[in-house]
Amino acid sequence: METIKEPSRDIPIRDKVDVIVVGGGPAGIGAALSSARNGAKTVLIERFGSLGGQQTQGLNSVFSRVDPQLHNGIVHEVIHRLMEGGAMRKPDERQIRSNPMVSRFIKRYGEENIPKRLLNTNVGWWGGETIFDLEYYKFLLDSMMQEAGVNLYLHSFAAAAIRDGNTLKGIITEGKEGRRALLGKAVIDTTGDGDIAWKCGAPVMDDKIPLGRRKGRNMGSLTAFYLGGVDVRKWLDFRKAHMDEWGQMYGGHRIIKEARKKGAHIRGDSIILSPMHSVHGGGRVWVMNPMYGPREDHHLWMPEEQTNLEISLRKQAFAVQNLLKQQIPGFEKCFVEKTANYPVTTMHRIIGDHVVNVAEMREGKAFEDSIAINNQPPDIWEVTGRWGYEILPHDIPYRSIVSKEVDNLLAAGTTISCGIFTNGGLRYCTPSMCTGQAAGTAAALAAMNNISPKDLDVNLLRDTLRMQKAVVSVREVTEEIIEPYRFMKSISVVNKKNSDVSIDEEAIGRY
Ligand SMILES: Cc1cc2nc3c(=O)[nH]c(=O)nc-3n(C[C@H](O)[C@H](O)[C@H](O)COP(=O)(O)OP(=O)(O)OC[C@H]3O[C@@H](n4cnc5c(N)ncnc54)[C@H](O)[C@@H]3O)c2cc1C
Repeated sequence: METIKEPSRDIPIRDKVDVIVVGGGPAGIGAALSSARNGAKTVLIERFGSLGGQQTQGLNSVFSRVDPQLHNGIVHEVIHRLMEGGAMRKPDERQIRSNPMVSRFIKRYGEENIPKRLLNTNVGWWGGETIFDLEYYKFLLDSMMQEAGVNLYLHSFAAAAIRDGNTLKGIITEGKEGRRALLGKAVIDTTGDGDIAWKCGAPVMDDKIPLGRRKGRNMGSLTAFYLGGVDVRKWLDFRKAHMDEWGQMYGGHRIIKEARKKGAHIRGDSIILSPMHSVHGGGRVWVMNPMYGPREDHHLWMPEEQTNLEISLRKQAFAVQNLLKQQIPGFEKCFVEKTANYPVTTMHRIIGDHVVNVAEMREGKAFEDSIAINNQPPDIWEVTGRWGYEILPHDIPYRSIVSKEVDNLLAAGTTISCGIFTNGGLRYCTPSMCTGQAAGTAAALAAMNNISPKDLDVNLLRDTLRMQKAVVSVREVTEEIIEPYRFMKSISVVNKKNSDVSIDEEAIGRY
């Protein structure tokens, strides 16, 4: 490829701080709040005009499977403030029981054989009662950052990293005004894509699928959109009468198959329809279906591929709207209310001294240096053809959020050191905010003691996190808390997608 030489230039140093957090999704929110609250001068950089990441820009306004006994800390505080602001419903036991997954448990095993916690907390299912009003969430996050004293820069894209030898010194942002340098004693990569780790030349894992029918391909993407004008009551009555087709989380296989035969541009083979995403009522339904697999040897960081992706996802959204409008009662007058401007992507993750894997998730592994707990199974149905609860709550060690090679680089959320399938669970909003809280606390403690995060006393970190209400290890919770997860694992609740796909389970465990 032909090249030109970019002239060298002086870039103004806008700030010298203790901690720079790059990316304002759930991980960045946890990281920035905890860093500032622990006394560090903290900057949070975000390329879009609001915080929330995929929760706001990607229309995924939900915290899945948040369990007060395993998480607590900042994620709980955020949820409570959403409730106080009337932007999230208060948990309702009746609602949990009527959830299709929980009601199936009750029907199949009898209420007396199901651990009580499954019936009165949000551990058993996807997270319906933690759905929130995303516009209020954006507003709330602005206030929370201001209260904590975080210096927030929106519309700032982190374009480069400043590295001196093995040490990360800061970042360069690009905006309308041009380039700015920010220097920090520690940098936390919460970009969801590992942009900082990648750009500073730290070793990273990329997005190649290691096995299954898409082996060797780069990871694809999916997105959601809102349909307005739906007669929700009519749709729910229809659903009740057609539980065979619509009773599971993924429905509509038959109508999609038929539509595809007639040439409809629909890539996903099922649809998730959730009327709960309109916290305030009304005729909105959240739809998840559009999918995109990048072309051979193409990555989603290439603008050409991102453009194809956006065009295809929008085309699919309108094709699905058309299908529902024509075939499903309640959707006769529906319209596409909003599409996301940020689909799910998985690009790079840091490599730390420990790489979390699926075998550890299945075992419910505990670590001496654990800083947070995950209870979200990986959504690896793309490879295995099924989605099920096949793990136990497990620890996330400090070694997996600190770069092995580059000093002063930490990660949280989607970008931590874990295998590609493990990432399909650890990247979820609740574990992301929890690893964010741990990374922010670690960065603040290291910066204020003028040491590298690698040299931080992990017991000091764990004590500080405990004082700030985070739960740091499965070793510190009772068997009663873990029991519902053991139950779900023992019956292996499975949502089938392509159950004919056979895969070496041991091999999955390594990733
Ligand atoms: C349609 C959909 C459905 C989903 N369903 C669920 C669900 O049911 N439950 C659940 O828990 N999770 C779900 N998720 C996934 C979940 O939202 C993400 O895994 C989670 O948001 C990841 O958090 P994060 O902070 O690591 O990254 P992100 O949320 O991706 O945030 C990263 C942030 O960094 C910013 N950024 C990136 N690069 C740069 C840069 N170079 N400079 C500056 N800023 C940058 C981005 O703009 C973004 O704000 C879903 C996501 C989508 C889109």
